[in-house]
Amino acid sequence: MSTTQTLEFQAETRHLLQLVIHSVYSNKDVFLRELISNASDALDKLRMEAFRDKDLQVDTDDPHIGVTIDAQARTLTVRDNGIGMNRDEVVALIGTIAKSGTSELLRQWKEAAESSAPDLIGQFGVGFYATFMVADKVTLVTRRAGESQATRWESDGQGTYTIEDLDDAPQGTSVTLHLKAVDEQDGLFDYADDRKIREIVKRYSDFVSWPVRLDVQRE
Ligand code: ADP
Ligand code: MG
Repeated sequence: MSTTQTLEFQAETRHLLQLVIHSVYSNKDVFLRELISNASDALDKLRMEAFRDKDLQVDTDDPHIGVTIDAQARTLTVRDNGIGMNRDEVVALIGTIAKSGTSELLRQWKEAAESSAPDLIGQFGVGFYATFMVADKVTLVTRRAGESQATRWESDGQGTYTIEDLDDAPQGTSVTLHLKAVDEQDGLFDYADDRKIREIVKRYSDFVSWPVRLDVQRE
């Protein structure tokens, strides 16, 4: 049976999310760079793990990154068939600030005047949390390679997230952004527009060694 659990972000994470959500930092496009780089890391990790342990029951067919736009629903999904995460990993990795760069960002942010915070986001990168610059809700579904239980994580970035077991999901991770309304003045471009997404993917995917496929759902 699957129960949905509501958990609180740790204080530091909440802090960071508020900074990200209310940031006037103009280059919000970086959210896609962060998602593609996470997907790429996940594919690297899968390759390494499969190489190290030949008996591992993992799927290494057609490794790729998929980007799907649903203009009607105003969602954007980045999917990979990489290593994935189990429930504990989702809680540990997505709900917590473990990475040194982010702690450093927060430290400098506390020292700096509020006004310089936006620059810090650009300087350090905020990884997965960058999604909350452009989305008012983020849903992550993931299944770790070699495990059967899948996990669904969802948050509006406001202080809590929900986590739930799923019986079934493809190996790897999908992250769906429920996009905020377009506001170009505020640097919020139409991220459900395939031309915009194509342009950003082109800009960043040169640094990625896995294929990135764009899929546009029009109806
Ligand atoms: P960083 O990539 O710098 O570690 P992120 O905030 O981008 O920071 O991601 C945090 C962690 O969450 C990653 O280190 C990784 O362990 C996990 N993660 C994020 N996205 C994925 C993904 N698509 N597949 C597997 N693990 C992921
Ligand atoms: Mg990352």
